[in-house]
Amino acid sequence: MFLVSLAILLTFAGTLMTGYHVTRNKLEENALQMHEAYAKKFADTTDLIFRTMKQYLKAKSVEIGQNIDNPNYRQTMLATTGYNHFFNSIVFADTNDVIVATQPELGVIGKKTSLSDLPYNPREAFITKPFRAITGRLIITMSEPVFDGGGNFRGRVAGTIYLEESNMLNDIVSEHFFSDQSYAWVIDKDGHLIYHPDPSRNGENVTKNVIAQHLMKGESGHAHVTNLRGVEMLVGYAPVPSSGWGVASQTPVAEIDPPVWEVTQRMFYYTAPLVLIMLLLSLMMTHKLVIPLKKLALYSRSLTRERIKNNVLERIPSWYFESEQLKKAIQLYTDSLTKEVDYFKKESLTDELTGLANRRHVDVVLHEWMNRQTPFSLVLLDIDHFKSFNDTFGHQAGDAVLKGLAEVFRQKTRADDLCGRYGGEEFILLLPDTSLTHAAAIVERIHSALRSKPVYANNFITISAGVGHYPDSSAELDALMSLTDQALYRAKREGRNRTVLV
Ligand code: GH3
Ligand code: MG
Ligand code: MG
Repeated sequence: MFLVSLAILLTFAGTLMTGYHVTRNKLEENALQMHEAYAKKFADTTDLIFRTMKQYLKAKSVEIGQNIDNPNYRQTMLATTGYNHFFNSIVFADTNDVIVATQPELGVIGKKTSLSDLPYNPREAFITKPFRAITGRLIITMSEPVFDGGGNFRGRVAGTIYLEESNMLNDIVSEHFFSDQSYAWVIDKDGHLIYHPDPSRNGENVTKNVIAQHLMKGESGHAHVTNLRGVEMLVGYAPVPSSGWGVASQTPVAEIDPPVWEVTQRMFYYTAPLVLIMLLLSLMMTHKLVIPLKKLALYSRSLTRERIKNNVLERIPSWYFESEQLKKAIQLYTDSLTKEVDYFKKESLTDELTGLANRRHVDVVLHEWMNRQTPFSLVLLDIDHFKSFNDTFGHQAGDAVLKGLAEVFRQKTRADDLCGRYGGEEFILLLPDTSLTHAAAIVERIHSALRSKPVYANNFITISAGVGHYPDSSAELDALMSLTDQALYRAKREGRNRTVLV
């Protein structure tokens, strides 16, 4: 029963564990694919906007180049730019990198940009890594050179993104996210964070991050990684080709724990009742199987004549083949045992020649009755002159006489009386609840039967008898026997073929 229960419970646990893992893997896979798709979409959008920004700057640089020598234009060159969704600000700097115009007003006209220290060629288009501008802001700048109609380099126009303030990147990202713990981050082509939900991290170099390494190689994909802070993350990532940037979208692995637990719990609640029913049915079945075996075992262990006689075995259920066979085997065994015991018991208590009780049996009954204080009469009988009968007719004839005599005793006594052969040709009758005179009457019936019919061939025989009574003659067995024996002796002495009472 223990094993059956254990097996069922282990199967149940196995099912739950499998469910847990399958759900977990599925959810993890889903999250990874979702983040990859999101990163790609984010990268595509950024790429598109980025190219538009570049085209916008390009157009602006052409416009400035064509009009740069017009003094009126110089005053208003950026004023017409108006509010710009892409850049936080736009700057025009001359060939010495001195700021000539800004949109909006930044209060930096006439100052040199902080770009002079950085390794960018102003005559070419470029995008910077994050750096501190002279305004003190952390920015990245996209720059286009300005050439006049004669092809001379006249300066550059630059669009700037303020990394620590609201800008086009966080406009796109912050649209909405599917969970509180999910977030995206963006790096530039050198592995600097240019967007992170924690603005203080912007500008940080994250080239040690495995995902950043993939992004810097222009790869896209998804991965289960441990980030630089030791948190396990599910990450999807994609590059932004036009800028060399990379976008990652991610969620902590712990995020999928609650739904996994919820599914596992639901599995538990759905399956548990079934398992319980299965467990109960199996236990009932096992119980039903075990009960007959257990009862048979207990029965075999405490076999008594009493239990055999009371047919206890018959009432043990045996509804299946094996138990039925066992039961039959036990039945067969007890039957033969009972028969043997009965046979030997009878043998040990019966006189072989006459079939009467033997001396051992008589003694047992004598003691029993005296213990129970059952009053009874005791008759000792001895064949008269049997020696000469034997001498005349032979020993076998003598035996036939003994048998015939036994038959007479049986016929002339009652069912409750006990007739026994006490010695060679001596017999004993135990007559319960019988007075001395009544006993004498019974002996008289025997005398008369012997008178009326020859016991062997044509030969009549006679017997002598002594009769005593318990407890009237004596309550002591030895005394009673001795008194009755004396009575018999007296019968012999007084001429035989008679009865003498104690
Ligand atoms: P009484 O008792 O009348 O004094 O004379 P009795 O001849 O019977 O004397 P006793 O009792 O001394 O003799 C017993 C005889 O009984 C001796 C023996 O030959 C015979 N006898 C004893 N047991 C058996 C037996 O089993 N079979 C036969 N055939 N004879 C037996
Ligand atoms: Mg004798
Ligand atoms: Mg005799």
